[in-house]
Amino acid sequence: MEPPGTRRSSSQLAEEATGSRRPGIDVPRSTIRPVVLTLAELGIEASGCTRCPLSAGRTQVVFGVGDPEADLMFVGEGPGHEEDRLGEPFVGRSGQLLDRLLREELGVGRDRVYIANVVKCRPPGNRDPRPEEIVACRPYLDRQIELIDPQVIVTLGNFATRLLLGTEAGITSLRGRAHPFGRAVIVPTYHPSYVLRAGSAGEPMAGIRADLVRAHEHLAEGPRQNYLGGRRPRTIGPPGQISQGRASSFATGREGSVAR
Ligand code: SF4
Repeated sequence: MEPPGTRRSSSQLAEEATGSRRPGIDVPRSTIRPVVLTLAELGIEASGCTRCPLSAGRTQVVFGVGDPEADLMFVGEGPGHEEDRLGEPFVGRSGQLLDRLLREELGVGRDRVYIANVVKCRPPGNRDPRPEEIVACRPYLDRQIELIDPQVIVTLGNFATRLLLGTEAGITSLRGRAHPFGRAVIVPTYHPSYVLRAGSAGEPMAGIRADLVRAHEHLAEGPRQNYLGGRRPRTIGPPGQISQGRASSFATGREGSVAR
């Protein structure tokens, strides 16, 4: 919280918020809540949100988890049953896979990255989030990205990738490279649930491993150089420190080519 007397007016904050928008983020000015200053405040605001019909069926809002100053951020689709029950993103089987891949390819736990979703409330029956729900929830994700200011954003699956890149193209054509995104880059990859369905020997598993290696390399080579000792401590070590998993993924020489 800012000290008394230093709080800026709503109009000043609105100008700051809109003035700092990045390519790929296209939030109507009227949807931004300029009074929200910190990630914690944003989480508190989201916890009571009724901006879309998903609020009616949720157990709780699943806002996000991890290091609020992470260099690496993951964005998935929306909470499932376990996430809705426990209030944390990616805690079911998909989350277990993501945790394992984080350990094997980057050598870190989820406490060293930040994980969020496109929509913060569980769609009933685990259906896809609807366009109007994504639009309603988008200001929370945009503000999370602004506040965390990651160096690399890994989008998991079509919904997060298409939303942030502002495209209708599919994940198969978008993954395999990094996309500029303001001060960050976006590294699109498959959603872990798709990787699970395809099996551990499938192309998507090789693809998501390769994408995480790509993300790791961009952390080391990113435009801000934070990762190698800039204005804040790095949260993930250099790629050379990792790992059995990384070596094995290179050894396979395979990348996924199957659409989600
Ligand atoms: S999904 Fe997002 S916009 Fe909809 S009620 Fe939940 S927090 Fe609010």
